[in-house]
Amino acid sequence: MDYKQHIKIIEDYPTEGVQFKDITPLLQNGEVYKQAIDDLAEYVKSRNANVIAGPEARGFVLGCPIAYTLQKSFVPVRKAGKLPRPVVETHYGLEYGKASLAIHSDAIQPGDRVIITDDLLATGGTIEATIQLVEELGGAVVGCAFLIELAYIDRGEELQDYDVFSLMTYY
Ligand code: AMP
Repeated sequence: MDYKQHIKIIEDYPTEGVQFKDITPLLQNGEVYKQAIDDLAEYVKSRNANVIAGPEARGFVLGCPIAYTLQKSFVPVRKAGKLPRPVVETHYGLEYGKASLAIHSDAIQPGDRVIITDDLLATGGTIEATIQLVEELGGAVVGCAFLIELAYIDRGEELQDYDVFSLMTYY
């Protein structure tokens, strides 16, 4: 499947110098969306994961259908202040701007094998923050699954020890 033909690239959005990858055309094509979910689910299955965690909002768009397909848990990772019960939370930097994320403290049990899903890997800030929360709760991050990986962004070494899978890479 040539997924890239279903991604629109917008220059200088939301700020100058950022080349925004718009995944909504892919989502709008039911056949392509399903194929992408099936391909990501295949990866999750190969990692023998029992929990899928996705940061809002685009992490939900991928993580929920993967969890549904495989009949696994889905754990929403939300901006701080949005979850109603006790949480673990963290603050981090983005390619553009800053953010915070939180997970319900009882959402992940020690020994859980967790895959983190999101639409796109840029600086890795979002995923590293999510990894930190999952590990704080005793979960093992057995992989990270994306639609898109931006290879032209320098990410440092934090993700080196984790298995990363993506359907598209932009150089
Ligand atoms: P990062 O934390 O820098 O890896 O950024 C990942 C998050 O920011 C993802 O959830 C994306 O939705 C969004 N994002 C960052 N850079 C881009 C980009 N160039 N195009 C589209 N979305 C982006």
